[in-house]
Amino acid sequence: MKQFVIAIVGLVFLTPQVRTAEPVPLRGYSSDSARAEREWEAKFRAIPDPATLRAYMQRLAARPHHVGSAYDRENAEWILSQFKEWGLDARIETYDVLFPTPKERALELVEPTRFTAKLEEPTVAGDPTSSQHAEQLPSYNAYSIDGDVTAPLVYVNYGVPDDYEALDRLGISVKGAIVIARYGGSWRGIKPKVAAEHGAIGCLIYSDPRDDGYYQGDTFPSGPFRPADGVQRGSVMDMPVYPGDPLTPGVGATKEAKRLPLSEAITLTKIPVLPISYGDAQPLLAALKGPVAPERWRGALPITYHVGPGPAKVHLRAMFNWDTKTIYNVIARIPGDTYPDEWVIRGNHHDAWVNGAEDPVSGTSALLEEARGLASLVRQGWKPKRTIVLCVWDGEEEGLLGSTEWAEDHAEELGRKAAVYINSDTNGRGYLNVEGSHTLERFINGVARDVEDPETKLPVWKRLQLRRLANPASSAAPADRQEARQRADLRIGALGSGSDYTVFLDHLGIASLNLGYGGEDGGGIYHSVYDDFYWYTHFSDKDFVYGRALAQTAGTAVMRLADAELLPYDFDDFTDTIRRYIEEVAKLAQQKRDQTIERNRQIDEGVFGATEDPRERTVAPAKEAVPPFLNFAPLENGLAALQRTTELYDQALARAAENGGAALARAALRDANARLIAVERALTLDGGLPNRPWFKHQIYAPGFYTGYGVKTLPAVRESIEQKQWQLADEQIVRVGKVLENAGEAIQGATAELTRAAK
Ligand SMILES: [Zn+2]
Repeated sequence: MKQFVIAIVGLVFLTPQVRTAEPVPLRGYSSDSARAEREWEAKFRAIPDPATLRAYMQRLAARPHHVGSAYDRENAEWILSQFKEWGLDARIETYDVLFPTPKERALELVEPTRFTAKLEEPTVAGDPTSSQHAEQLPSYNAYSIDGDVTAPLVYVNYGVPDDYEALDRLGISVKGAIVIARYGGSWRGIKPKVAAEHGAIGCLIYSDPRDDGYYQGDTFPSGPFRPADGVQRGSVMDMPVYPGDPLTPGVGATKEAKRLPLSEAITLTKIPVLPISYGDAQPLLAALKGPVAPERWRGALPITYHVGPGPAKVHLRAMFNWDTKTIYNVIARIPGDTYPDEWVIRGNHHDAWVNGAEDPVSGTSALLEEARGLASLVRQGWKPKRTIVLCVWDGEEEGLLGSTEWAEDHAEELGRKAAVYINSDTNGRGYLNVEGSHTLERFINGVARDVEDPETKLPVWKRLQLRRLANPASSAAPADRQEARQRADLRIGALGSGSDYTVFLDHLGIASLNLGYGGEDGGGIYHSVYDDFYWYTHFSDKDFVYGRALAQTAGTAVMRLADAELLPYDFDDFTDTIRRYIEEVAKLAQQKRDQTIERNRQIDEGVFGATEDPRERTVAPAKEAVPPFLNFAPLENGLAALQRTTELYDQALARAAENGGAALARAALRDANARLIAVERALTLDGGLPNRPWFKHQIYAPGFYTGYGVKTLPAVRESIEQKQWQLADEQIVRVGKVLENAGEAIQGATAELTRAAK
């Protein structure tokens, strides 16, 4: 290695442009430890192997492996045996959770004609595992309540609150009706929740071919997209209230845990729900009359979409076995050498709805390759400073069961020790996608610069930057392009929910990241029997090079966090992001006000009566009270505190990094690191969000009415969206105080760093 360094130094003198190729300093590292780190990381990135990834997938996706199945447990035990074979300290931690499975499912059109839904996904010739019917979990939505209902049908588009406003204008009520909603537009669990709030007594959810089927491309097996009989399974638990076992909110579902009676489990749906294919949905939708659906409601079935209600009347029966099942989390630890009580946690789930090659095995396999790589480095003498905890979760699909129960069970210890949680789930071909805590935005940008895209050979960071130039995400395209060209770091998205990071970030206030590749492989097998090895190896990352890229990215991130002298959080990007969020909520309040004033005026002017077709039945909206002005000063003051303390922290870090970071190398940084870990915790409040105390983080939460979709500054934003003005005023004060708390936590870290680096 020494010879290599000399060669580089020589080149620097000869050709000035080579100087730019010198590695950027690593944040939180002295020069000496950065050099050693880069060597270990390069060794690590050479280890993950596409052939091995392929073999893991073949093994793990060979049979259906949902919670409670024989193969779910066999997979957990196999993963454990792999970890042990590589020399890792590993074990299985179990929990006992409520997990309903279908006992009876029936759906029929009873008027004006008769049709019985198949509710089956047939074997596809050439796809060997699609025939494993005896082990497949039938298509259903987990945590639907039992029900047997017959009622007129109403089509509600995506079934989100806006759609019900449109129904109001059409004079259509869903009271006493069964609604049929298409997948998309929100997380699926929102659809039965909103339908029940409007008085519906049953809910069907189907995959429309416009969003998920032949409109997108050729269907399986000729192409990757959803075939006519493919069904999306999935949980409809009310996860925006709390995820995990419905019977043990806030505590681990251990054998001895106190459990709620089933009747008190508020995260079950209020009405029965069943997911269906577009093959089964078409006759139901074709039998609807009533108004023609608004244009944006129409899908790609060869029918005219009507809203109803009726004359289509359907009978829905869904009954479940309300069993308790054991879930198996596989947990491995690599003990830290310098800071054993600071943990870097990395997780991906192993359970699936059926065979689950894409979801989750594409991600699980990458995690296994990381474990194999890290274990190999340990055998070669690598000693991470911090403890690395590798977690392979069970029960993610049903409601983030494995991660939530484990983290609730270990909450006290995690609160003290966990520095970062890094998650992945499904993986595919394309661009690196990162979401997470903005205190880690700068850090993960650094990692992305050091991983090579397997197809273009560009750094994955560069490829993502160029994509943002080609295809800016928002309509403010020129500004976005300028920013993508000039800002040092590419922005990362905020985390809502939808995978195992939820409990770490939202409940415990642990800085988190979610990583994955994708964007170049369309698909329509999500949560169906066709998400299997055959599909994945024909239509997705078939040579597993992006599986290798994920292992390289997440593994590098874990190592770089575990080995840093000082944890590499950054508060500049964080503060910049908070500033944007405050601007957004202030703008939202102004828009709500302007819209209400304009609409009231239009009602007074008689606009609706005059412009809507008098022969169609429509209902003019009612006048509303004009929203008051809100006082955003507490948020602005909190932001100012963040800006001030961040600047001082940056100065302290710059001083510590002088002279090759001699101070970092020499100082005892335990207390400074502990203070840094406390910054993300300071963004939580014990009382949680107004209507859901389990969600404690005050910057990020899944939306109460969007599900997976994130709401930033959720307490403020949602009270504005829901027109609860007094609550909004209170929450602005409360969240402003949280920002000030975070500023104080940063100040504490600055003081500790300055003291230690003297
Ligand atoms: Zn998944």
